[in-house]
Order: sequence, then structure tokens, then C-alpha cells
Amino acid sequence: MKYEPVIGLEVHVELNTKSKMFCRCFADYFSKEPNTHTCPICLGLPGALPYTNKEAITKCIQIGLALNCKIVDLSRFERKNYFYPDLPKGYQISQYRWPLCVEGWLEVEDKEGNVSKIRINRVHQEEDTGKLTHSDGQTLIDFNRSGVPLVEIVTEPDFTDPSQVKDYAKKLQQIFRYLSVSNADMEKGDMRLEANVSVRPVGQKELPNYRVELKNINSFRFMTAAIEYEIKRQIEALEKGEKLTQETRGWNEDKRETYLQRSKEEAHDYRYFPEPDLPELKMKSEEERVKEEMVELPQAKMQRFVSEYGISKQNAQVLVELKEVGYYFEKAVKLGEAQQIKPQELANYIVNQKITLASQDQVLRAVEFIAAKRVGIIEDEAVIKKIVLEVIKKNPKSVEDYKRGKLNALQALIGGVMRKTQGKVNVEKVMVVLEKKLKSGDTP
Ligand code: ADP
Ligand code: MG
Ligand code: ZN
Repeated sequence: MKYEPVIGLEVHVELNTKSKMFCRCFADYFSKEPNTHTCPICLGLPGALPYTNKEAITKCIQIGLALNCKIVDLSRFERKNYFYPDLPKGYQISQYRWPLCVEGWLEVEDKEGNVSKIRINRVHQEEDTGKLTHSDGQTLIDFNRSGVPLVEIVTEPDFTDPSQVKDYAKKLQQIFRYLSVSNADMEKGDMRLEANVSVRPVGQKELPNYRVELKNINSFRFMTAAIEYEIKRQIEALEKGEKLTQETRGWNEDKRETYLQRSKEEAHDYRYFPEPDLPELKMKSEEERVKEEMVELPQAKMQRFVSEYGISKQNAQVLVELKEVGYYFEKAVKLGEAQQIKPQELANYIVNQKITLASQDQVLRAVEFIAAKRVGIIEDEAVIKKIVLEVIKKNPKSVEDYKRGKLNALQALIGGVMRKTQGKVNVEKVMVVLEKKLKSGDTP
């Protein structure tokens, strides 16, 4: 029997808002003194009342819009109850029945370049937990991260190949960076991936009655490896007649295999219920407001570059990879206009030199380089002849040397022409003219 993978992805992204999700503490906790960005609210002290961070909600909606989601008219928070030392309240404020954004999609490419649409189930707002550090048999808790805004994006189980999942995750990261809602640095934990993997016989319509959740994956490469391993492991198990059940597995990079963390018997019942301390979110007017302020996204920018500047799709794709490069490319196009530099020339130059324009300075240099190469170059043969004659007149010794068969004498004469023109001359034409003159004996 032939099997096909069924994969769904859950992505968490930490927002770069100034303050935390439900209090006024600074949200930026990276390398800060532990437990200095805390207050009664994010420490979960009894009686403390949360309030909603509007900037976070705006950013969550931006993500939803970028992923072609519907923004709901009415949204609200719920409590997700469970006990763990990094969760002082005993529940995480999250969204369950009333997420902010639903029913989106994103196009992804597999490794052969086939495009498919992945449905996005929801984009919702929640908060991060504290951070535990285990060392020397002790566990330390840092609550600086407690209550930092977190957005979760959940797909339908629409992926059929790990390469699609990788493309999806990379596109999400690019969108977060374009929107400036997060650095989305995987190593710092700004962006976290959880893949759900199962396999079914080819042709079967129903989803498998189990799924394996892969956790603690902190790079695109590990994620691909973990999913590939898991597909193989599951197919082998089914072929041996084993029954697969719901479980959570981690990735061991040294052994390059997944390992069991938790099986179904230990599954949580979170007892979600509406958060009574926070008002519901009325989104009707918000959607329009956020839409108006949305930046141009990579896909749209790529298409605009092709139609507006007449550059190739391949070049456009490279130029929009990083938001800054696209921005400075357009600046360079504007600067280049005065010197009749075509956008295509600039695009080729940037792509071929693999330069990532990251400052105004580099833009100027790129334009200057092309301008100097093009505008300043002497191509006219009559002009070249004149210069060559002048150089010959001034260097009788080199001419003598050349006649006696010293080959580097030619180099010296070419050097003379280069100096006279500050390098802005077509060297091949100089050589032709020079040799012709010298061989004709028509020299002083
Ligand atoms: P939970 O919140 O418990 O993790 P969800 O219903 O939100 O559960 O689903 C989580 C993820 O699992 C989603 O991305 C979904 O697409 C995926 N998923 C659901 N069923 C399967 C399956 N049979 N195989 C692989 N992934 C699945
Ligand atoms: Mg899950
Ligand atoms: Zn706080």
C-alpha cells in the first residue's frame, strides 16, 4: 500500500509591542535582568486586573489580513486552564471560540515548484508564559516573558510534503518582518513551530484518526528533518501492522530522530471559559482602519516590480526577499533616472553582485558604479585614436621597447591611456587601435 503524509502547522509568533499583552510592563525581555519586567498582573497576583493592549490587537489583525483571513465582528478572550510553574495565574489568557481572524489561506510552493493553497483555520491572540531554566538540579523562573503578546496561526491539515511546510514557514517569517510585527528570530524563540503529522493510504479521503505533534523545533532545517523522519517512522509502523495513536514527540538533533514526550492518556482538558475580566472586542470598524495602514506585502511588491519596472520575475523575487532591499532598489531607480539608468540594469547589478542594499550609502554606490561604467566610458574610436597618439608621442621609450619585441611595453602604453582617461575607456578598443598604430610603423 502507498501512504501519503497529512501535515498541519501551528506557529506562534511573539509580537514586538512596547508593553505586554495585559499590563504596562516592557515586553522586550531579551537579555534583561530576570524578573525586572513584572507587575501584579503578569505575576498573576490575586485581585490584579488585566487590560488589553491595542497595539497587539492591531498587529494580530495585520497578520490575519496578510494571510487572507476574515476579521470577525466580535472577538473575545478565554481562559485556558492548566497548571505549570511558568504560569502563575493557573491559566493562560487565549482565544478559543472567538478568535480574531478566521478562514485565511496562503499559497506555498513545494520543492518541484508546484503551487498549492494552504487553508488557515485561525489567527488568534494570546500571551506568553514565564521562562524556566533548569540547571544543577534546580529550576529558575523568569517572569519577564510572562504576558508578552503571542499570536498563534493554525493551518488546516493541508500540507502533503515537508518542502511545502518549509516554504510556508519561511513565507510567514517574511510577512512578520514586512509587517514589522516581530523579528521572527527562531533562535531567540520569537517564532516557534509545531508540526502535526499523520499518514494515510493514498486515495483515502478521511483524516487519520491520530496525529503526532512535533514540538521544540527551532529551525526550518530541523523542522524539515523531523517531519521527514516522522513520515518514515509512521509508514514503517503501519506496514508492520502497528496502530498509531495521538502523541507528542520532540526532535533529537544528535540522533536525528524524534522521541516520545507525551502520549494521549496524558492529554489536557483545558476547560476553556470566557475571561470575565476583559471586555469583548468589537472589530467592525477596526478592520478598515488596519487595512488602510497595511504595508505592501512581498507577493504584491514582486508583481508590481515586474509590471512597473519591466524587470524579470526572478530578479523581482530576489529584490523583495528582504523589505529593505526592495525599498532601496526603488530609491536607486529614482536616483538612476537622471542618468538614464534603466531599472533592469540596477536589478541585474544588485542580484548578480548579491548585494543587499541596507543603507542609503550602498544605494548611492550602486547607482554611481553603474553610471560610471556606462555614462563615462569612451567608446568613440576617433577619440580613442587621438588619445592613443598622444600617449605614443609622450612615450618614445615604450614604443622603442615594443619594436624590439618587449611585450610588456604594450601594457605600459595601455596604462598610459588608462591614466589619461581615468579608466573610463573601452580597453579592448584601445588595444586594437594601439596595436594597429604600432604595427603600421606610423609612429614618431
Ligand atoms: P490542538 O489545539 O489540540 O493542537 P487543533 O484542532 O487546533 O488541535 O489542531 C492542531 C493542528 O493539527 C492543526 O494545524 C491541524 O491542521 C492539525 N491536524 C488535525 N488533524 C490532523 C491529522 N490527522 N494529521 C495531521 N495534522 C492534523
Ligand atoms: Mg496543538
Ligand atoms: Zn506586568
